[in-house]
This record gives sequence, structure tokens and C-alpha cells, in this order.
Amino acid sequence: MALYYKSAKELAGMLSRREVSAVELTRAALDRAEQVEEKVKSFVTRTPDLALAQAEAVDRRRATGETLSSLAGIPVAIKDNMNTFGVRTTCSSKILANYIPPYDATVVDRLNAAGTVTVGKTNLDEFAMGSSTENSGFFTTRNPWDTSRVPGGSSGGSAAAVAVGEAVISLGSDTGGSIRQPAALCGVTGLKPTYGRVSRYGLVAFASSLDQIGPFGRTAEDVALALSAIAGHDRLDSTSAPVPVPDFTAGLNRGVKGLKIGIPREYLAAGISPAVREAVLRAVEVLVGLGAEAEEVSMPHTEYALSAYYVIAPAEASSNLARYDGVRYGVRAGEYSDLVDMFSRTREEGFGPEVKRRIMLGTYALSSGYYDAYYLKAQKVRTLVNKDFEEAFRRFDVLVTPTAPSVAFGIGQKTDPLAMYLEDVCTIPVNLAGLPGMSLPCGFAAPEPAAGVAGGGPTAGDGNGLRLPIGLQIIGKAFDEETVLRVGHAFQQATDYHKQRPALDAKGGARQ
Ligand code: GLN
Repeated sequence: MALYYKSAKELAGMLSRREVSAVELTRAALDRAEQVEEKVKSFVTRTPDLALAQAEAVDRRRATGETLSSLAGIPVAIKDNMNTFGVRTTCSSKILANYIPPYDATVVDRLNAAGTVTVGKTNLDEFAMGSSTENSGFFTTRNPWDTSRVPGGSSGGSAAAVAVGEAVISLGSDTGGSIRQPAALCGVTGLKPTYGRVSRYGLVAFASSLDQIGPFGRTAEDVALALSAIAGHDRLDSTSAPVPVPDFTAGLNRGVKGLKIGIPREYLAAGISPAVREAVLRAVEVLVGLGAEAEEVSMPHTEYALSAYYVIAPAEASSNLARYDGVRYGVRAGEYSDLVDMFSRTREEGFGPEVKRRIMLGTYALSSGYYDAYYLKAQKVRTLVNKDFEEAFRRFDVLVTPTAPSVAFGIGQKTDPLAMYLEDVCTIPVNLAGLPGMSLPCGFAAPEPAAGVAGGGPTAGDGNGLRLPIGLQIIGKAFDEETVLRVGHAFQQATDYHKQRPALDAKGGARQ
């Protein structure tokens, strides 16, 4: 297998045994990007010089006999809404197109301390608002499994980069599904940690009560490695939790015997494609085969979560995005008559349509006379959604659901904003409750015909045509990422969905 497709765990072994140098590995990832980036477009900014300098530093340190972290020398990609000192950080928005941060986000700082090699900043839906990267102010990232399709979003660039071998690990952020849904659509593993597990310092805020940073990798084990490096209290983020950080790789092999798995029935209801439903139920059977116990459960407030999210998230966003006024940083409109005109022209020219829609929705929901009807009510719904989870977690160790309702859809296919919002029905409740959730590959299916297009329905595992990855979501109790990762690892020890690689545009599907 090509170097750039190996797991971080395998590469860590090779690096420490000096079978490969950090510079060689970095060159392999950079060369891979040279080869595929034109087709996939994962990156807003690539940083080959920085990467090689970091890799050389790791090799020099290793040569002195120093014991290094297992992530030392591993190529990583960072979503472009996390600040990187001296490296442009745009949020894929025209309004920040020229922004060069004077500091590193805490997660970047911690990865640097572990000796990772930064290969670039990845594309996203503008300010992380979207599920396809089509809302990027610059360009759309393509799904490596079929470049006429979206990679998911908003962390689409980070998911695609790992799926196609441009990075071994990447960071994304997840407010309503932005790590898990692109992980599902690109066939990689992605974890949204518990709210407060990872510092948000230096993450450009979208909806502060929901945002959380987490890793993408090719395996649950790699995700565990990355989480161990970035997690933990940070005095620069008062919402980061002062709880101990375990070594998330330590308990991975404990298996799932006797573990209680809940299958919330509402997550398999209308709107979920039959192929996805089948793959998720087959995955549960695999876990039961490994000794877990599974049972259906009802979470009756699930159907209200999406509506509550689309009040709360825009409300918070409208406040967070007030700072982009052309005064302190970012792009300023070229022509204006006075200060107020400068503000409004800057925002008119700088923000894309989805961001403007969210600002208007949020401002409306918070305005006097509507606050009680919308914002307050949404907060009450949030409490009810939390109670559903509390109830379920009295009986179960983890909950298992689909990550996304279907496989990757075509670029330009979802034109109605509401259709796009529905991509996150299975992931949003988890953010409202602040719980950890992970997506990992659990099967493949033929693409579904676009609405109104005649043709056969989706068939699981259609060996002849194009096959696209399906994601399984594992939801855990607050601060119990260990169990989520353990279930994911057990599943990956028993299956090989995560070992499939996209055969970039060679129609005919997955290849080892
Ligand atoms: N797709 C959802 C939205 O548009 C979630 C995005 C995210 O998690 N950042 O808000």
C-alpha cells in the first residue's frame, strides 16, 4: 500500500524504526496532493515549505535519540477556520480572504507540540455553514469517490484530504454534523468530541454553544491518537472542561462484549435511504456478533431537533459574525461614503448568500417580540432533546444511527436550503446535547437517482457500478469518547469498509 494511504499508527511504527523519515513521508503526501489536488481541491492554502521544515525538524530531533510523540512526522491538514500563525485563515469567506492570524489555535499549538507536519488549510462551507462545501466563497471540493459529487460539509476539504491521501489526519469542526457527515460521505472516520473536551480557542466561532473541534483519520485508532493530542482543558477557553484526558488509544482493544447498544427508532424513519438503513442494521448485527446486546429505543423529541438548531445556530451566528465590519481585520469594501456605508458594503460584498441568510434568520429570532416565540422556545426544545438522551443513556452504553440520510449527492443537486439542512437530521441532536459522536464507514451503495430522474432505486453493494461510502454514527455519553472509540475499533477489526480507497474517477468503485 502506498505510504500516503497507511494509517498514522502504522506510520508511527515505521518512523520510529527509521524505515521511513518524516521528510520522505511528507514528500509522499505533498506529491500525492500534486497528483490529485486539481481533481479534488481539498485545500484553500497548501503549505509545502512549512511542512518540509517541520518534517526536517522532526528528523533532526529523532536523530539525537529523543523519544518523540507517536504523531511526530505525521502529515496533517487543518480546516481553514482554525487560526494558524502566519498562514492565511479564510473560513472560505471573501471577507477573510486576506486574514493572516498572529497566533495559533490551541489545537494547532498542541499538534505542533506533538511534532505533526502541516500540509495545508482545507476548504469548507463559508464560516462552516453548510453540508457540501458548495457554500465556500472560493470553490467546491469534490468527493474523491466520484468528483461530480460533494464531499459533504462543512469540513469537506478535511474529509476529502484524508480520503484521497493528501493528509493522514485532519482537523474539522462540528456544529451540527460538519465532521461526521463529510466523514460518512468520503468513507473516513471522524469524531465530534463532547462539548468542552477540546479547546475552541482560535477556532473562528459559528455557534459557540455547539461548535467543537475533532479529528478525521482512516481508522478509529488514528482518531484516538489525534484526540489524545488535542484534548484537554485550556485556560484560554473557559468552556473547555477541566476533566482528565485519558490516553484514548489505551482501551481500544477491550472489545464490545456485554456492551448495551440502543438503536433509536426515529433515526431510521422516513427520509433515510433504504441502502443506508440496511447497512446500519447490518453493522449492528456485526457488533452483536462480537458480543454486544442491541435493542430499539424511542427518542420522541428527535423530530424537533432540526428546527431548534436552525433557530439557535443562526441566532448565535448573527452575534458572532457582527465582528466582520471591515474595521479591524479582513477585507474592506473599496468604495464607501461614510462609516455606516462602509460596514454595509463590506458585509454585502464579503458574505455569501447562505451566511447572509443565517444572519437574517438569527437577527430575526433574537429581535424583541420574537425572542420568546423562537429563541426561548428553541432552548426549551433543546432541553427536551437532552432529556431523550439522558433517558436512553440510563439503559445503553452507546447509541447507533445512520450519520447521513443517503450517500454523497451530486454537486448542484440540492438547491433548496431546506433540503440541504435535512442532511444533518441524524447529527444535529448530538450537538444540541453536547455529546460525543463518531462516524465510520459501514458499507457502500450505488448512488441514488436525483429527484425526478427515472431509474432504479438504490441497491446496496452494486458491484458493477459506482459505489459510494455509507457512514455509521456511534453516539456516547458525555466525556465517554473512550467507549465510542472502542466500539468503532471493534467494528473496524471485524470489517474492512475502512480499508477501501477511492479509485479517483475510475468508475467501477472501491479498490483496496
Ligand atoms: N450543516 C449544518 C449547518 O449548516 C452544520 C454545519 C456544521 O456543523 N458546521 O449549520
